[in-house]
Amino acid sequence: MTSIDWAKVRADFPILAQQVNGKPLLYLDNAASSQKPRAVISALVNYYERDNANVHRGLHELSSRATDAYEGARVKVAKYLGAASAEEIVFTRGTTEAINLVAQTWGARFVREGDVILLTEMEHHSNLVPWQMLAERTGARLRFVPVAEDGTLALERLGDLLTAEVKMFAFTHISNSLGTINPVAELCRAARAVGAVTLVDAAQSIGHLPVDVREMGCDFLAFSGHKMCAPTGSGALYGRAELLDAMPPWHGGGEMIVTVSYERSTYKKAPARFEAGTPNIAGAVGLGAAVDYIEGIGRATIFEHDLALTRHALARLGELPGVRVQGPRDRRGGLVGFTMDAAHPHDLTTFADQHGLALRGGHHCNMPLMKKLRLPGTTRASFYFYNTKVEVDRMADILAEAVRFFA
Ligand code: PMP
Repeated sequence: MTSIDWAKVRADFPILAQQVNGKPLLYLDNAASSQKPRAVISALVNYYERDNANVHRGLHELSSRATDAYEGARVKVAKYLGAASAEEIVFTRGTTEAINLVAQTWGARFVREGDVILLTEMEHHSNLVPWQMLAERTGARLRFVPVAEDGTLALERLGDLLTAEVKMFAFTHISNSLGTINPVAELCRAARAVGAVTLVDAAQSIGHLPVDVREMGCDFLAFSGHKMCAPTGSGALYGRAELLDAMPPWHGGGEMIVTVSYERSTYKKAPARFEAGTPNIAGAVGLGAAVDYIEGIGRATIFEHDLALTRHALARLGELPGVRVQGPRDRRGGLVGFTMDAAHPHDLTTFADQHGLALRGGHHCNMPLMKKLRLPGTTRASFYFYNTKVEVDRMADILAEAVRFFA
């Protein structure tokens, strides 16, 4: 494994070198959104200073440069995901839009009354609400793979739940509140055996560990750029080409048509069919730059680094009285959700902020899961490759002070 100069990597992130409330910023809210390296910020500045124009339509130099940059980013994302071709990548605003796209278009074509959509009890609202809306429209039913005591999926129930009525099995790769890493390839294999289509929510894994759609064997995968060093409003849906081409269009407008008359239109194939109107060109360019940046470090190296910080955080949190960590002990991603007997998550998060420490407190868009766990919410610390062991120790010291403060 190549050795990485992590201090040099950290210096790529200008935002981290600041004081918040009179203390050095300690940013541990990476599961909500990551920070951006200079390479990504410069890609945006360069694009706007040199190449900006609308894509695809223009027969002039800047338009062809913008088109090359936009389509070049699609090729980078396809390679990053191990997709068979760039045509399998639809740019979206992020995970939420990608899942809604599938629920609305694939759902409209393939889901009927009585069909079952299988989810898990640990889904983020963005991999739950779109399916509820589809179920309401079609009369389909929702089923859920339970979350067991230890924060993993109760896989022994899969045989009963994954029946021939299941048309879609949609699940998260990494839980954003428990940190659980789900056995994606195994779940996809089980779904395929009953003819169900799969969608993987990769929001929490895409920038943290190797993600390869063909190794996973999934049909769809959704992710957000902003959690992997790219700009907000960028992200993509991966879909197997034959599925994307069988789906009706979503938004109507320019770019997605072949012919238009006053009465009716014909549509392009994917991905253009799902990208009506002027897209987020700069966002895609920034996403391409983020892919290059992350690949420069290596996703396996990033995962190892995140995991070391998580293990250290688990050890330090274990020393604090009245602090309980949620989720599994092993096979977990770079985030730790916990409760503190003495303080509500919102109060604890506000306390942390006074010390320059950015955590997240609340239900983390997992309201049904929090209800099941009988928790008002949790406080979450989430790590990325620019965080350090010294920062984890500083977090633990601030939390120890909180235990005394709220007692
Ligand atoms: N799924 C998971 C597991 C997430 O953690 C998030 C973001 N918190 C989302 C989906 C939604 O991502 P976005 O808001 O970027 O669309």
